[in-house]
Amino acid sequence: MPSLKPFNTFGVEASCPALHPITRIDDLWSYLHQKPPEQRSLVLGGGSNVLLRDHLPYPVLLNQIQGRHLVSEDAASVIIELGSGENWHQIVEWSIAQGWNGLENLALIPGTVGAAPIQNIGAYGAEFATVFVDLEAIDLTTKELRHFDAAAAAFGYRDSCFKRSWKDRLFITKVRLRLSKTPQPNLSYGVLAKVLAAASIHQPTARDIANAVILIRSSKLPAPHQYGNAGSFFKNPTLPADWVAQHLQSRHPEVVVYPDQPGMVKIPAAWLIEASGWKGVRKGKVGSYPLQPLVLVNYGGATGTAIWEFAQAIQAAVQAKFGITLEPEVNLLP
Ligand code: NAP
Repeated sequence: MPSLKPFNTFGVEASCPALHPITRIDDLWSYLHQKPPEQRSLVLGGGSNVLLRDHLPYPVLLNQIQGRHLVSEDAASVIIELGSGENWHQIVEWSIAQGWNGLENLALIPGTVGAAPIQNIGAYGAEFATVFVDLEAIDLTTKELRHFDAAAAAFGYRDSCFKRSWKDRLFITKVRLRLSKTPQPNLSYGVLAKVLAAASIHQPTARDIANAVILIRSSKLPAPHQYGNAGSFFKNPTLPADWVAQHLQSRHPEVVVYPDQPGMVKIPAAWLIEASGWKGVRKGKVGSYPLQPLVLVNYGGATGTAIWEFAQAIQAAVQAKFGITLEPEVNLLP
């Protein structure tokens, strides 16, 4: 049975009955042609947002569809079409080198272009939805070609229809984005503005912003080749502002709280984990990263089960101390 160890950034051992590299859309049609209708398949891009807790009982499609094309342009913007298996960060770098703006705040996010709309990836005040035009996908059940524009994608905060009604039913093949030809710096995120000001950069280019994001991320996140990880393991909880004022701020006035939708606030999960005593804790081959406790790391040879047990222990500690349920952001498989 083929090993999935090279294809998940946690670097845990797991196998599956068959592994199908998909480098062209025709590879996918051939696979679907021979697949029994009821057979489930897992699409893996960068493997950077999954925890494989055990062996998978179904085949895995490895998305390796490449391609970057300029589709059209006007005085202000370009529309580009990307193969869904392209590495996200390499696309950010490429777009900046072309002189296009819009992806710079999203530098160094692991994963593929095809994974970006599923999660509506976002970071440092920007999110994928704002540059999205549309995408093409193949329905793994009916074998139909489908198109989704922004309205159909139903993007929300780290959310889309691809995580909900369409979950596990699509293979996204191509994604089109609109990028600006003129700089549109988004410095709404405090730490980003601070890093740029410290470097005396007052009119930052997309390159300057990406550099600052890369600096911030690299200073607190481990590279997967150093220690296996899948970035943030838990979502940052959003909670009713009243509840937070009554039950959290009254007892922990130092808690960090950010505004969210009206009546709601965001609490950094990292703060809750640290305040529950789990920052930098290591048990055997698994730990919470000392510089960013929201990242769980495989110090070498950990199993998916051990990582999941560690994550559950953190959930229990945060629940016991604050009455808040931390939800995993990574996909738990099987
Ligand atoms: P962080 O900067 O410590 O922030 C933790 C939480 O506080 C997040 O919910 C963040 O909101 C919020 N926050 C911080 N500064 C804020 C501000 N000035 N205004 C409003 N909200 C603020 O988070 P981190 O874990 O180191 O991650 C850095 C960035 O990468 C964050 O933007 C985070 O969302 C993003 N990220 C994205 C993904 C993903 O797309 N799947 C995964 C991991 C991290 P926001 O989440 O709205 O920024």
